Amino acid sequence: MGKDDILSKAAVLQRDQETYAIVAPLPNGVMDVATARRIADTAERFGVKHLKVTGAQRLVLLGIAEEDIDAAYESLGVKPQQGGALCQQYIKVCPGNSFCARGQQDTLAFAQKVWERFYPVPKITAKVKIGVAGCYNSCVEPAIKDIGLIGLPGGWIIMVGGAGGKDPRLGEIIARNLDSDRALEIMEKILKYYRGASSRHQTRNQRLGVILAREGKGPLLRACGLE
Ligand code: SF4
Repeated sequence: MGKDDILSKAAVLQRDQETYAIVAPLPNGVMDVATARRIADTAERFGVKHLKVTGAQRLVLLGIAEEDIDAAYESLGVKPQQGGALCQQYIKVCPGNSFCARGQQDTLAFAQKVWERFYPVPKITAKVKIGVAGCYNSCVEPAIKDIGLIGLPGGWIIMVGGAGGKDPRLGEIIARNLDSDRALEIMEKILKYYRGASSRHQTRNQRLGVILAREGKGPLLRACGLE
C-alpha cells in the first residue's frame, strides 16, 4: 500500500510519494534568531534542502523521511499541531504596531491571546481561519477569513464569514470600535455559534460564511448580543 499523510503527526506526504513536510514553530509569523538557528540546524541534520513559508504563516520543512519525523519534531522542540497539517485552523496576523509604521493596534499581542484562549478550536467540523490586521491595508486578508479583525485608532472591527477557495466570500462587518477584551468576548461567542452549527446535520462541515448565507446573520448577531 502506498504512503499517505500522517495527520496524527501533522506530516504531509510530498509529491515524491516518499518524504514528508512538517511544521516548525512560527507563532504569529515572527521568530527570534535562536529559533531560526534551531530550525536551520534541524533542517541540516535531517537532510532538508528547502523551507517554505506558507500562506497560513507556517514554516514548513520539506523532505523529511518518515522514520525521522518524531526526531525532527524533538529537535525543533515542538509537538505536532492539531489540525496543523492541512491548515484546518490558523491565525494569520500582520506585525501591527509592534513593527509596522501604519499599525493602529497591537496585533501580535492580540493574536497571542487568541491562540491561548481558543486554540486548538474543538468540535468545529469546517475550517477556522482567523485574520488579524493592524490597519485597513489588510495585509493578512481578514475579509476572506471566517473571522477577520482590523485594528483602527478607535479599536477593532470584526468581520465574519469570509472565505477563499471554491466558494469565495467577503466577510461582513458585525461590530466596530471594540477594545481587545470585548473583541475576544465576541470571538468566543462566534466560535460557540460556529460549533453549534457544526453539530447540526444541515450545517455540518460547512464554513461559517455558508452557514450565514443559509441562516441569515440574525442568529449569530443574537448569539453575540449584537442585536
Ligand atoms: S495591515 Fe497595516 S499594520 Fe498590518 S502590516 Fe499591513 S500596513 Fe502594516
